[in-house]
Amino acid sequence: MTLPRLRGAFVWVLGALIMLTSMGFHQAAFGQVSHEPRVSISDLQKQFSLSGTWRFKAGDDAAWAAPGFDDSLWDSKPIPGRWPSGGYPESGQIGWYRLTVKLLSDGGFGPLDDSHLAMLAGKITSAFEVYAGGHLLGGAGKLPPFAVSDYDRVQVFQIPESAIMPDGRLVLALRVWGGDSTLVNSWGAGPYQSSFVLGGHEDLMFSGLVLTQLPALLIGVLFLGFGIYHLYLYRRNPQLSTCLWFGIMAINVAVYGFMLTQWKYGFDFSFITFKKIEFGSLYVFPAVVIQALWGLLDAKIERWLKGYQVIFLLLAALVVSIPGMDIHVATLGIFQLLTLPLMALMAVLAFRKLRDGNKEARTVFFGLLIFAATCINDLLIDLAQVDTRRLMPFGFFAILISMGVSLANKFTASLSQLEREVAERTFELSAANERLEKVARMDPLTKILNRRGFADQAQGEIRRVFRGGKPFSLVLMDIDHFKQFNDTYGHGCGDHILMRVTAMLRERIRDVDRIARWGGEEFILLLPETDEAAAGVLAEKLRVAVSENYFEYEDKRLAIALTFGVSVYRKGDSFDACVVRADAAMYHGKETGRNKVVLHGGVDSLRLNHPTHGFNPQ
Ligand code: GH3
Ligand code: MG
Ligand code: MG
Repeated sequence: MTLPRLRGAFVWVLGALIMLTSMGFHQAAFGQVSHEPRVSISDLQKQFSLSGTWRFKAGDDAAWAAPGFDDSLWDSKPIPGRWPSGGYPESGQIGWYRLTVKLLSDGGFGPLDDSHLAMLAGKITSAFEVYAGGHLLGGAGKLPPFAVSDYDRVQVFQIPESAIMPDGRLVLALRVWGGDSTLVNSWGAGPYQSSFVLGGHEDLMFSGLVLTQLPALLIGVLFLGFGIYHLYLYRRNPQLSTCLWFGIMAINVAVYGFMLTQWKYGFDFSFITFKKIEFGSLYVFPAVVIQALWGLLDAKIERWLKGYQVIFLLLAALVVSIPGMDIHVATLGIFQLLTLPLMALMAVLAFRKLRDGNKEARTVFFGLLIFAATCINDLLIDLAQVDTRRLMPFGFFAILISMGVSLANKFTASLSQLEREVAERTFELSAANERLEKVARMDPLTKILNRRGFADQAQGEIRRVFRGGKPFSLVLMDIDHFKQFNDTYGHGCGDHILMRVTAMLRERIRDVDRIARWGGEEFILLLPETDEAAAGVLAEKLRVAVSENYFEYEDKRLAIALTFGVSVYRKGDSFDACVVRADAAMYHGKETGRNKVVLHGGVDSLRLNHPTHGFNPQ
């Protein structure tokens, strides 16, 4: 297979956008008319296709532009249509095309209303001049001896009235240079693409240049925006490396697509510069696709695959850095051959991931399927000359959009995964907080409330009294001469006694009563709906129970006694004040012999004078 044929197979993998440039272009029915097609002035207002068979002769002679020249013995050749491989070296790769159009008019060929007659010329390799009625209208590139290629340009040439002969005949001539022999050998030459149309100047400018090039421009802008958006996402969160590669991929496609449109001529670069950008961006593309697709499907890029990427990058570096266009021709075949297995690899990867239940793979796989289907469709057009519409642009869309959708899905999935994890963590945290809160209110040794927990509960009780409930009483108690036990038998003994006393007290109070360790060897009780006298009775019961009990520690039997202070909560005063009163009563008990219960209200001096030693919790 020759290179031009091979090119059909792969350049369109990305060259789809070429098709976009010709989408929406209307070709008038013209067929294979060989000589003197006739067209009326009114038809011209619509556009008249010049695609079809022209007269052709290899060689070069300025006289061939003249309308009067007899070309009846020339060969026939289609436009658009490539020269045979190898071209016409004996003629210096130069050939002439001629076509005579008969313009029919009811009355003369004056100015065509507001619009002048013009010709749209499609892409011609590698340089050409166009003549009408013997007048040079213009061209693209430069023919030898200057030999400057410029073959991607679509142009509209205005045809002067003087070019039309009195009998209405218009003779068009194209002087074409095929290019240097490397190019002609591998790529072919001549008018190879786009339409050749006769029509009104303004109409051709609009429909032939602006309208046909609009879809490609819009899609290019779309891809560019898509790309920049993903780069922005990556900038916001550098962990999203797939966004980075997808962004670069989209921008890469946008640049390549832009190079295939006529809009690029808005930049004042040389033709060779445009070609370098076009080939550079094409060759880089597979390396970028690997990064993006493998990242998207969470697949590892193996060493050999990295090597594969490097080869593409090297090819890109080669075409960009080596001057001239021979390097493009020399590397294109290698590029195409390397791209083939990559497409298979992409499909295999997507299929494997799909089988493994990767949700993103499904979307990408469908995108690849559509892409492959459109590839086959267009391949049939190129290789088997099947007459169907080109679908590659849609395939191209499918693959890019499917990857975009997958990326968005992946993004959303990881976001909701994150949300789930945050919710779980928050729940765990609040549970831990709750446990901590509880612990902060508990005494670790005796496992009853500590002072803080007790104070909180007392506040609830105070609110109840305020709502009209009966008053509660506080009983504060302190183990007598507790220090002795520590000093004599050690702290273990002290701790043991604290736990045993706690157990005894808990057994003897009601469920509604609250007990807490107030400090060191002091305990406190809150007895709801209990007045001082009743509280005193309970305290006395507790005192007797403890003092009559023997506490066993190791092989010893220890007698313990407690001194109690009782106070009742008075509506309007504070919890602290109530504790201070119980403390004062207990202190009084300590002072007057210990092992006793003292009611704050039962001691005149305590009732009259507020305690001077104050409230000392420890
Ligand atoms: P009083 O009859 O006047 O109350 O004399 P006391 O010895 O009981 O009172 P004092 O305040 O002199 O001593 C209290 C001791 O309680 C001092 C401290 O070492 C001890 N203590 C406080 N908390 C603990 C504890 O958690 N474990 C042990 N083993 N001892 C403690
Ligand atoms: Mg004590
Ligand atoms: Mg004490």
